[in-house]
Amino acid sequence: MKQYNIDENGYYGRFGGAYVPEILQKNVTELKANYLKIMQEPSFKTQLDQLLHDYVGRPTPLYLAERLSERYGAEIYLKREDLCHTGAHKLNNALGQLLLAKRMGKTRIVAETGAGQHGVGTATVCALMNMECVVYMGATDVERQYLKVQRMRMLGATVVPVHTGNGTLKDATNEAIRDWCCHPENTHYIIGSVVGPDPYPDMVARFQSVISDEIRQQLLQQAGRSKPDYLIACIGGGSNAAGTFYHYLDNEEVKLIAAEAAGDGIDHPDRSAATIHLGREGVLHGSRSLVMMNDDGQIAEAFSISAGLDYPGIGPLHAHLAKTGRSTVYAVTDQEAMAAALELTKLEGIIPAIESAHALAVLPKCRFQSGDVVVLTVSGRGDKDMNTYADYFKL
Ligand SMILES: *Cc1c(COP(=O)(O)O)cnc(C)c1O
Repeated sequence: MKQYNIDENGYYGRFGGAYVPEILQKNVTELKANYLKIMQEPSFKTQLDQLLHDYVGRPTPLYLAERLSERYGAEIYLKREDLCHTGAHKLNNALGQLLLAKRMGKTRIVAETGAGQHGVGTATVCALMNMECVVYMGATDVERQYLKVQRMRMLGATVVPVHTGNGTLKDATNEAIRDWCCHPENTHYIIGSVVGPDPYPDMVARFQSVISDEIRQQLLQQAGRSKPDYLIACIGGGSNAAGTFYHYLDNEEVKLIAAEAAGDGIDHPDRSAATIHLGREGVLHGSRSLVMMNDDGQIAEAFSISAGLDYPGIGPLHAHLAKTGRSTVYAVTDQEAMAAALELTKLEGIIPAIESAHALAVLPKCRFQSGDVVVLTVSGRGDKDMNTYADYFKL
């Protein structure tokens, strides 16, 4: 049998690993030595489970979307991560890492954010747990996402605008890493997706795996079987998809479908974020994966109408799943995603995040057979995207 999950060296096939400068070696090694041990402590699990339940609002519903099902000729269930506190799946991971950092004796948190969602999630759990919080954000993104900056500040975080490069996510990530290097003793770096050096991809996937753990139980109760025929999720770095797939990775009867953001389309590589379709193998932010590069090997800016999906890399797990054929990856254009968002809104009364709309846009591309059971993760809610929707649909 093929191995899809991480191996003992921190690799998914040939992807993953920890490509970090000497100065970060100690931080990464300390984390790797502790994360599994702490996550398996009964008192840690009890505390995390209770907060996921009472604070985040888990379990999130698994909702049988009847009108959507009728439209596509399959039984379509929506996993409602949009109903989590702060509006997306991000808190599952931010909360887990924060509790872990506390147990490692850390007193200060740094994070990077692009669209602002992970920054808000991190600032939220830091307020909850009374931790110092510094969020690095590209100066361009600070301007584009000002409401999120205000939310983070109200929550007590220090938001540091980063003026290097294009002032976007990868510049913010570099600064967060630099900060972590300078304060290894007291600081933990909360990465927001299944990216970064080993052990981050595995740690984040485990924190997000609460999604597929719940799907198994809820599907058994509601559909009389714990195995769907299809699992569908969108991919930026890949954390909500990793959480959705996690407990089904080795069950090859379950088809894993990922939706990445194609922007204007994969025939416009300079206006796209379709990393799996267009990326080349390389190292970005500490791990080997697929990366969007221009012809001389420089990291390219990714483009998508969805600010949460325009990352030029992809988690190493997803590079491996795609290259081994375990997952099928569709590149979804802005136009297709926006149409899918409107369709869900009209059919089910749910306004999804534009990120999640990319997953919905895959439905017409799959050829379902009647009776197929499909679980699609709605990673977040659309409130944050209302300006974009209003402009696009001239509301
Ligand atoms: C951040 C975000 C994403 C993309 O991140 P992944 O790590 O790929 O899950 C997707 N959807 C929403 C709503 C987000 O906030």
